[in-house]
Amino acid sequence: MAYDTNNIFAKILRGEAPSFKVYEDEKTYVMMDIMPQTTGHTLILTKEPAANLFDLSEDAAQACVVTAKKIAPAIMKVTQADGIILSQFNGEAAGQTVDHVHFHLVPRYAGQDVRAHAKEQGDFEAIKVLAEKIAAELNQ
Ligand code: 5GP
Repeated sequence: MAYDTNNIFAKILRGEAPSFKVYEDEKTYVMMDIMPQTTGHTLILTKEPAANLFDLSEDAAQACVVTAKKIAPAIMKVTQADGIILSQFNGEAAGQTVDHVHFHLVPRYAGQDVRAHAKEQGDFEAIKVLAEKIAAELNQ
């Protein structure tokens, strides 16, 4: 699929749009989801200009999963969640709404449902605090 360099995540990666950043390395960028399905919903973006998994290089795919493995324990510790989902959507029919490869980390809390996908903006102040706490946990 042709990559649209003006998608919102491309703009965030170029510093042209704001984000609640958690972590960054050479190949990945991690930020809070601004429409969180649960408290602590975090996104791992590849820095490769790839719209979906089919276009993503093996190297970039590996980097995303390694970053997920690094971030997930910090999210668990900060949110005190009971579990966490790692997911990644490809194509509108699968629920993809931003055509730049990213993985979701969605904490799950026993007995609590998840909110709808990409529907309702979260509390930015609370999201900012979470981003700072997860970043701090990573720097321990
Ligand atoms: P997808 O549907 O493509 O798998 O996931 C896109 C995710 O990005 C959704 O969970 C949605 O809430 C989130 N999202 C959409 N626009 C923005 C934005 O401008 N900033 C951030 N941080 N997340 C966004």
